[in-house]
Amino acid sequence: MERFIWSDLDAAAKLAAIARPTGISDASIIEAVTSIMAAVKMRGDEAVQDYTARFDGVTLTDTRVPDTDLKAAWDALDKNDKAALETAKANITAFHAAQMPDTIRVETQPGVMCRREPRAIEVAGLYVPGGTAPLVSTTLMLALPAKVAGVTRRVMVSPPGKDGKINTAVLAAAYLCDVTDVFMVGGAQAVAAMAYGTETIPKCDKIFGPGNAYVAAAKSLAAQEPGGPAIDLPAGPSEAMVLADKDANPAFVASDLLSQAEHDTLAQVVCVCTDTETADAIEVEVLRQLATLPRREIAEAALKLARMIVTDTREATLDVVNAYAPEHLIIQMDDPDAMTPNIRHAGSIFLGPWTPESVGDYASGTNHTLPTYGAARAYSGVTLDSFIKYISVQELTQQGLQNLGPAVERLASLEGLDAHRLAVSLRLKAMTS
Ligand code: NAD
Repeated sequence: MERFIWSDLDAAAKLAAIARPTGISDASIIEAVTSIMAAVKMRGDEAVQDYTARFDGVTLTDTRVPDTDLKAAWDALDKNDKAALETAKANITAFHAAQMPDTIRVETQPGVMCRREPRAIEVAGLYVPGGTAPLVSTTLMLALPAKVAGVTRRVMVSPPGKDGKINTAVLAAAYLCDVTDVFMVGGAQAVAAMAYGTETIPKCDKIFGPGNAYVAAAKSLAAQEPGGPAIDLPAGPSEAMVLADKDANPAFVASDLLSQAEHDTLAQVVCVCTDTETADAIEVEVLRQLATLPRREIAEAALKLARMIVTDTREATLDVVNAYAPEHLIIQMDDPDAMTPNIRHAGSIFLGPWTPESVGDYASGTNHTLPTYGAARAYSGVTLDSFIKYISVQELTQQGLQNLGPAVERLASLEGLDAHRLAVSLRLKAMTS
């Protein structure tokens, strides 16, 4: 891991030390994704099938997965896997159901009643990654909140494996979470299909989910289309920042770093450590654990983008966190929750030695679809609210319009919008005639 002593760096060197990998925003990726999206817009299913053949190596005539396949996948699942999925489902459902918003009612002044009423999105597109690992957990993280929120149509897409099928555990999870439609398609072509609609894949109102750099670029391009779908958040290649002090267990720290590094060659992991001896011990552990990982090659490539930053105070550590705005922030320091109030930007925080990052990835209840690449400065991860929008409602009594009308007349006149003013004046006059 490239090492930096934070107090030795000037402002420019600090920014360079926490720079994101450049590969994610490569012009070549944007260019490739733009042409994939244009082709799907023009040629629908035919283009989806062509790209599936090119990128996934599979020739498909029908991308829809029949409901009977979902049930068969669930029935065939090992009973211990079923129990683990059910534990995760219960926790994720409980945490997201607790986020259900109520209608807000405010009488802003006598006779002026305002309400805000939640409504679920009608058609949600759920992207479940499957390029290098079948993310069974993403199925739960997207489909369960969508169902709890009351989304009518919950459309899931995921790339087929080399055998021309979606991984059975992903299908079983889709059955457990009551997904309404499943299609075997991944990458930018899947996002394009959900953005524009094809002969078989419905046009979605909002597209959710994490994915590689192609998927993330496709989502952001789809959101820029006039009349295009909304998107949840920029959720690209994973990131983790671990804060460690001298009492941190180097093996625990290393395992959290590697659990994100194994996701993608473009994943970035950063360790911020308060002393050099602990930093040395963590790096030794990273190499020791790396040697045994089946996805060693991916993690090794990601570690080339990794950073070890040594700080000398808790304040400096917080400066690094807030400047980087990590997707996952793991705090293995003394009194970790004392840091939380001073953290302004992070997707999800994991406190103390007994909270490995992977519990949030799978089953603690929080959502694992989180903002990457510094987007935590302005975005939250997926929550129940991501599947909900609000309608505002107002109703004035006659007395209410008498109270408020004169101010509205003045404001309309300030803008020179006379029809607006008249709409009030006519009514006020009608009250007195
Ligand atoms: P993926 O499903 O995101 O991407 C696979 C698809 O990418 C393929 O089906 C193919 O269509 C497309 N693709 C691959 N190479 C291409 C090329 N050269 N040109 C055009 N398209 C191409 O699966 P993945 O690759 O395993 O990536 C999953 C990603 O999700 C990882 O980066 C992981 O870190 C990330 N992730 C992020 C979060 C988060 O919340 N931010 C959570 C979980 C996972």
